[in-house]
Amino acid sequence: MTTVSDPEASIPQRDSRRAVLDVEGMHCAACVGRVERFLGKVEGVSAADVSLATNQAHVQYDPGRVAESDLIAAIERAGYLARVHPEGTAAPEQEASATDLWIAGAIAVPALIAGMLWMARPAWAEWILCAASAVVIFGCGRSFFAGAWSALRAGGSATMDTLIALGSLAAWTFSLSELAFSHAPVTYFETGSTIVTLILMGRFLEARARHRAVASVRALISLAPRTALRVDETGPPLEVPVATIRVGDLVRVRPGEQVAVDGVVVSGSTSVDEALLTGESVPVAKNVGVPVVGGTLNGSGSIDVRATAVGSATVLARLVRLVEEAQASKPPVQRLADKISAVFVPVVLIIAALTLAGWLFAGAAHAIAVRNAVAVLVIACPCALGLATPTAIIVGVGRAASLGVLVRNAQALEAAARVRLVVFDKTGTLTEGRFRVVDVHAADGVARDDLLAIAAAAQHGSEHPIGAAIVRQALDDGVSVPSSTGFEAVHGEGVRVIVDGAVVLAGNPALMAAGAVSLPSGVDDPPAATIVHVAHAGRYLGRVALADQIRQGAREAIAALKARGVDVAMLTGDSVLVAREIGAALGIQDVRASLRPEEKLAAIDALRAGGTTVVAMVGDGVNDAAALARADVGIAMGQATDVALEAADVTLLGADLSGVERTIRLSRRTVTIIRQNLFWAFAFNSIGIPLAAFGHLNPMIAAFAMAFSSVAVVTNSLRLRRVG
Ligand code: ADP
Ligand code: MG
Repeated sequence: MTTVSDPEASIPQRDSRRAVLDVEGMHCAACVGRVERFLGKVEGVSAADVSLATNQAHVQYDPGRVAESDLIAAIERAGYLARVHPEGTAAPEQEASATDLWIAGAIAVPALIAGMLWMARPAWAEWILCAASAVVIFGCGRSFFAGAWSALRAGGSATMDTLIALGSLAAWTFSLSELAFSHAPVTYFETGSTIVTLILMGRFLEARARHRAVASVRALISLAPRTALRVDETGPPLEVPVATIRVGDLVRVRPGEQVAVDGVVVSGSTSVDEALLTGESVPVAKNVGVPVVGGTLNGSGSIDVRATAVGSATVLARLVRLVEEAQASKPPVQRLADKISAVFVPVVLIIAALTLAGWLFAGAAHAIAVRNAVAVLVIACPCALGLATPTAIIVGVGRAASLGVLVRNAQALEAAARVRLVVFDKTGTLTEGRFRVVDVHAADGVARDDLLAIAAAAQHGSEHPIGAAIVRQALDDGVSVPSSTGFEAVHGEGVRVIVDGAVVLAGNPALMAAGAVSLPSGVDDPPAATIVHVAHAGRYLGRVALADQIRQGAREAIAALKARGVDVAMLTGDSVLVAREIGAALGIQDVRASLRPEEKLAAIDALRAGGTTVVAMVGDGVNDAAALARADVGIAMGQATDVALEAADVTLLGADLSGVERTIRLSRRTVTIIRQNLFWAFAFNSIGIPLAAFGHLNPMIAAFAMAFSSVAVVTNSLRLRRVG
């Protein structure tokens, strides 16, 4: 198992840094596309992901060529406000101005009723309506005009704000000119104010729903304690802000308290609820020397912890960062939607102009032509399109995280939904990877303890659980282990060292064959045991048999996958016999054994069949990195400290294999929701625009439909919170 590593090590390239910026003023997919385009134009920016759901831009850039202030300037040029997102805090909330909405409603609703019921209005009543709707449109709706203006100033472009501003302004000015110059005026004052009110309402509801969508990550952050009890050599323990704790400080964790920082227990013992990291609420025992993670919940013991990571380097901070990055990423399908929305607004402006011209040309009254053009402007806004995918990704990824499944990005989620075959590594994945020596069988003329001593000498430098088990056995038996030099691990086969100036080989038959050591026949090995043969100076000394345990819940996890119509297979470097035995116990027919690491890669390639079968590989993430990277979806069984595993697309935080099926189920649901959302959003615009252009859509109904479509999309995404 790897330990807490340098957080910088998880950053892929040295000359690349990631900035998270909070962006203010985005309302639709067109805004997202705009900000992305302006960021992309900056020299030295390699990638920019902008999310409407979190109002954030994640930018990958070269710090040698660009500064964060350049990124902010680029966003401002696009017509929005931006600032660097403060580390360790939640994404900003879209401020949902309830005041504006209430004032607008209080005016617009009576105006609407008057407009509909009181047809033959005297001139003074029209003037009152004119003034009242001006308050709503230009007062409560000022943000639309401000947004439209800044987009215009930033290079003569148009956003969703432009459509709303233009629509309500057209309705209002047309009505004013009718009132001023016509004998029988036809006015749309109430239309203008109703549009603004409904759009405000839509944004308000949408902001609330989005808030709930990002709540899962916010909940993670709120888990971090704010203060810690620092123990000094002199004086009593002191309650201090967590931010002041440094690596190496001693922190006391009292019963029932949250662990404040990542660290190692130096005194005391307790049990800790690590559900935060693993989704598993059975407490984990912690005694001296065992690592603890900040944010987890202490049970009934009191412990002193030496801090090993603080601030943004803690597991919790990294976890939050990974989840947020994943939430900000986009599946390919949304890139298409964003591209469409980017050209959407100018196209709609043209359609609206054509509608106006067309109706006038066909001899319709000015009032009808204006009304239909306004309806086009209002219905066309692609805001549901902008929310369709990001909200689903946010809720899906957040839900997964709360179930102990860390999904790296939207592409992984999308691929996981298509998985047809799951390939499991055996040792450490299907089995516990905790070996125990069950038999030591020395060759004729060799003493048992001498065999064990040489075997232990060979395994001294090995990180493999087999090696650890052999060394432990030698210690338990009180065997004195000779010293060795030149340790060399032959991955997937065994180890090679020098003892007394001669080569010792300890490993599987392949390793023996390579060393020209012949194995004796006719030795009965215990069933389902992993056999390590030992040779010294070309002479066969005997073999050590080790047993591992099938991981709890493995059988159920495999049955659950099969029930979903997903095939399973097993790859292992261990012998065919052991592999078959375990395969039979778990219900896996396709078992491929005695594979070296590169043969595992070849096996993955063969199973993928040129990309026609989508394959997920589940491994314990340490020695399976290459195979994990080669599979369509790499799933690592990680301890919490391994969250930075770079090769894996998905990390199961708990040591629980049921996470595999859960990942697939959740991904499938998320992709379904995305499809529904996109369908709904596209259908809405493509049906709405012709209806409006041909005069079949009242502008107020258009405004209602538009507000409703965004809310519907977000609400649909929220359903993912209930996937178990
Ligand atoms: P898996 O593919 O099931 O995860 P590994 O690749 O870790 O298994 O190991 C494959 C085989 O290589 C083991 O079953 C064992 O025979 C041999 N092996 C690996 N490491 C060692 C070691 N340190 N000592 C002896 N044998 C080893
Ligand atoms: Mg393994």
